[in-house]
Amino acid sequence: MLIVVVWPTLRPTGYSTKNWQEAYLAFVKLIHKCEVMQGTTRPASFITEDCEASETDDILRDALKDGHTILHLNYKGLQQLPPLLLDKSFDKVKKLFLKRNRLTTLPASIGFLQSLTVLYLPSNNISSLPNEICELKQLECLDVSQNCLLSLPSNVGQLPNLEKLHLSSNALTELPEEIGQLQSLKVLIVTNNQLENLPETICRCMKLNTLHVDKNRLHRIPHELNKLRDLKELSLMGNLLTHIPMLLVANSSLTCVNITNNPYLVTLLGNSHQFGAIHSVYSNISGCGFRDPLDLGVKPRQIFKINNCRAVLPPQMKLIWPATDGIQQPYPLLELSLRACFKFKKLLNIQQLPDPILRVLDCPVAVCAHADCGVPIYTSSFAIAEQIKGPVNKVTLFHRKQCVPLLILRLLDQSFQL
Ligand SMILES: [Zn+2]
Repeated sequence: MLIVVVWPTLRPTGYSTKNWQEAYLAFVKLIHKCEVMQGTTRPASFITEDCEASETDDILRDALKDGHTILHLNYKGLQQLPPLLLDKSFDKVKKLFLKRNRLTTLPASIGFLQSLTVLYLPSNNISSLPNEICELKQLECLDVSQNCLLSLPSNVGQLPNLEKLHLSSNALTELPEEIGQLQSLKVLIVTNNQLENLPETICRCMKLNTLHVDKNRLHRIPHELNKLRDLKELSLMGNLLTHIPMLLVANSSLTCVNITNNPYLVTLLGNSHQFGAIHSVYSNISGCGFRDPLDLGVKPRQIFKINNCRAVLPPQMKLIWPATDGIQQPYPLLELSLRACFKFKKLLNIQQLPDPILRVLDCPVAVCAHADCGVPIYTSSFAIAEQIKGPVNKVTLFHRKQCVPLLILRLLDQSFQL
């Protein structure tokens, strides 16, 4: 008796992708029990999408025939790289896109693809990379985000042209020291892993301009990061940091530093739990120890009337300050006395001041952003947060209400009816 079972190649409406996959898996189980059908199914080739292995081979043959150097093999349900691709005849391929397949590993023969500059592998199930990946000397961009990498090959430093390394959403517990050998590296994204440390050697990647290490378990960051003169964006949200090196704050190239949601962050003045959000906001650092400072502001109305003119406050712009006069009890005395100490530092007999006070005096959390002001801010300030890029906010601090630019103040005054 012949039974023909046909699985539709398109997902019918009414099925979610998940339901459809579950149904398909049940189907595969069923037909694998039937000897007649064994060997005729290709579960990997069309479980999520509708491309069969023969279609992939067709794409490859066409690419070879037409001399294409960019290969798009995203969403093909591939469980392994097509053997055809690993033939040396593909050594002219420059860019290989393999997003959202079912790859669990890469073969050593990946090293044959000598011309690759871009290798794009997000959303697979890859748990390790072969050492041979480092034979890809032309590689400029490697994206292995959303896989299950436990480690990187120790020879990862041998990619002289690698500029972008995307490793977010894996299970990495450490980065190899050799990462410091990546002399072309500009962008390193390691968000959402299990890192407890960053290797000190990372400070040797002199071209690094973007470093995202959000949602890891970092207790500290290398002090020498301040030597990275090209570093512009440093995102450290959701870690276990206790300190931010002051030298880093002084790095003038850094335009975005986000330290939001580091519950153990201790500022020079104490634990952020005690001192509130603003105290851990440095001049070009946004975020705070335990919650997003934007959560602290009352939601302002977005439209204001001034002198019969309607003004719209940018939706990202919010004011952060305590409800009274910008200085929250019981800190004003501390703030004011610290500012006074700073102002009269030269007149004071400095040796008589206790050490902690001296240290604090030399390291204000910020200085007033008003053009000619520059008064140090130690505990309380007027802060205006502006969202400048995605989740990263720029916070501008002023030492007193009068220093907040008039237009913003009027807009916000009306909003808060101060
Ligand atoms: Zn000021």
